[in-house]
Amino acid sequence: MMKTADVVIIGGGISGCATAYFLAKKGVKNVLLIEKGYLASGSTGRCGAGIRQQWGTELNCMISKHSCDFFENANEELKYDGDIEFKQGGYLLVSSTEREHEQFIKNIEVQNRMGINSKLLTLEEAKEIVPYLNTEGLISAAFHEKDGHLNPFHTTQAFADAAKRLGATIMTHTEVTGIEVENGKIKGVKTNKGNVATPVVLNAAGGYSQIIAQMAGIDLPVYSERHQILVTEPIEEILGPMVMSFSLNIYCQQVPHGGIIMGRGDENEPRDLRTTASWQFLEEMALCATKLLPPLREARVLRQWAGLYNMSPDRQPIYGPVDGLEGFYLAAGFSGHGFMFGPSTGLIMSEYILGEKLTLPVETLTLSRIKDNKLVFEPSVV
Ligand code: FAD
Repeated sequence: MMKTADVVIIGGGISGCATAYFLAKKGVKNVLLIEKGYLASGSTGRCGAGIRQQWGTELNCMISKHSCDFFENANEELKYDGDIEFKQGGYLLVSSTEREHEQFIKNIEVQNRMGINSKLLTLEEAKEIVPYLNTEGLISAAFHEKDGHLNPFHTTQAFADAAKRLGATIMTHTEVTGIEVENGKIKGVKTNKGNVATPVVLNAAGGYSQIIAQMAGIDLPVYSERHQILVTEPIEEILGPMVMSFSLNIYCQQVPHGGIIMGRGDENEPRDLRTTASWQFLEEMALCATKLLPPLREARVLRQWAGLYNMSPDRQPIYGPVDGLEGFYLAAGFSGHGFMFGPSTGLIMSEYILGEKLTLPVETLTLSRIKDNKLVFEPSVV
């Protein structure tokens, strides 16, 4: 176990691994990432890994577009000995209420202004893109062809491998059990394999971010909520883009090996650290998904699992330093969009930690916004 580190990152998901990469790339020699399980064993490896630039605020459009541009060249940029499997088949969002339809129109105006070439489609046009879509009860669709999904395990590994190549140390199966603070400054972390002295800690612990913050004496206003997801056996190609309905609160995508991954939110899900799977989800998911895409009736479910959304009061990330605790940084509270923000998160956190000018204008996303009641309203979060 290393005895000292310039920066300790807690969490080996997309946020932690991307930050390790950007710090190492910028020449920070002594970066240590600590993960209690294996890489991507938290929400990252359990997520749908959907990447969309179709947001309703300029800020989220910018963060997401920046990430998406990175993903397009990530295999080369990270010199990955594999493939992150970025399938840019687009994201088709369907509206089923007038309110949603109006929101799509407003969102597309924002997106187009930000250089995102999304468009509003009639249902006939939507069916040209997804012929099996059942348009009954739908009003319109929004589409952006450069959105898509990728493989979250490969992507996280690609960041981790690149960070290691550039000198970072990654310790898996090592649990942070405490954080040492002295006179309002970070001094080190305690783990089940020994202690490390460090002046900087990044809390990138996903669903466990509140517990890590408590170790440093910080009351982080987030909670974790279970979200469930399943994959079917491979079937013939029926789905080019990711299909998503805010009203039904579902998304479906066909991954390269032919399986359909689909997930669904539910306000009755437990708000704790449970990642068990439920029969109710299986039944409700099947009902909603087969209504939207009837050929799914023929698909057999292969596996079902669950992960945690880490929810902040406005469902937007909490980025940056913490007032009154020098050396403690947060990348938490991502709700359902922390994976697609990954490359931007890594860059942003490296800039905060190194005191650099921010590439993306995320100053409104610090923890103090919550205390000051300056929440950020994004209309298109799930
Ligand atoms: P995580 O991936 O959770 O990583 C945190 C890590 O910290 C974990 O590996 C954990 O083991 C580790 N850790 C915790 N405590 C300790 C400790 N004490 N010591 C050491 N290590 C510790 N986002 C999207 O952008 N697109 C999607 O389509 C999407 N779909 C989703 C579907 C589901 C079902 C779920 C659950 C989430 C989805 N998300 C999606 C959200 C996304 O998964 C998360 O926002 C993102 O993965 C968060 O990444 P992270 O690295 O911050 O956290």
